[in-house]
Amino acid sequence: MSHNITAGGYPTVSPYLTVNGAGHTLVFLEKLLGATARLVHRDDHARVLHAEVVIGDSLVMLADAQPGWPAREGHIHVYVPDVDAAYHRALELGADSVQAPVKKDDPDRRAGVRDSGGTTWWLATPQEDPAPVDLRPFIRTVMDFPRPGIGFKDITPLLADAAAFSACVDQLADAVSPESYDRIAGIESRGFLFGAALALRTGKPFIPLRKPGKLPWACRRVEYALEYGTDALEIHEDSCGPGDRVLLLDDLLATGGTVKAAARLVHELGASVTAALFVIELGFLPGRKALEKDGVAVHSLLAYNGEES
Ligand code: AMP
Repeated sequence: MSHNITAGGYPTVSPYLTVNGAGHTLVFLEKLLGATARLVHRDDHARVLHAEVVIGDSLVMLADAQPGWPAREGHIHVYVPDVDAAYHRALELGADSVQAPVKKDDPDRRAGVRDSGGTTWWLATPQEDPAPVDLRPFIRTVMDFPRPGIGFKDITPLLADAAAFSACVDQLADAVSPESYDRIAGIESRGFLFGAALALRTGKPFIPLRKPGKLPWACRRVEYALEYGTDALEIHEDSCGPGDRVLLLDDLLATGGTVKAAARLVHELGASVTAALFVIELGFLPGRKALEKDGVAVHSLLAYNGEES
């Protein structure tokens, strides 16, 4: 659990804060940062408050500390554009000073205040956003695999680098807002790697779309054309249904045939497709056009314009 949250449009790091007195903290945050705060749930029986706070583009959950899940006092950081202004505003709001802003020229200067609920906040200047990790060096193009003329995009270097893989999952979560879908359908087999990781990152259910004969429960099947012959995909009938918004995920978009079939399966079960998301798009092939013609929005992290590039 990280306690970094942000204000004023800086990126959030953590969505969950456990504090002593979430109610006080909510009001304090609202006043200090001009946040729009909205209470989403209160469980009076358990005397636990859960609150959803939107600050800039960031969503933060506040919860009262519970036995066995203690608050981490003194470790909550809020990034504010102006430490002095936020510090003085906090004192006006009745907070106690823990540490006045010091070291005028230090770009990482901070101040500490304690709100009336006993939660200590460290107000700090925002750090520059780190440049997004370039995933391209982690994709290896293997020429003439599996057939002459094909430039195979090998994702194993990406999987072998935990930091790059994690950055890739972050970028997938940023590419399509998780608020716009309820479930993630990953396509066998490399779509499972990214789909399962994204499901864990976003807290969404994962649906495997599998090659024929692999799924044990009642299935729907669609066949689709390959360059030579046909292939098929299957989905469990109880994996999604009317009202569900499904994100389709695969490692790579080439002609789009696989994902078109995936979209048909999801539609046959009465669910809608939010978008199709890929780590890699072969921009010189007609996959994007084919999907968009079917009304499926396409997002990808990396586009390639030739077999060898
Ligand atoms: P398509 O249905 O033509 O869009 O093909 C997409 C599927 O084939 C994805 O599941 C990819 O894993 C795989 N695929 C197609 N072309 C390549 C390639 N050049 N490198 C790696 N995988 C590919």
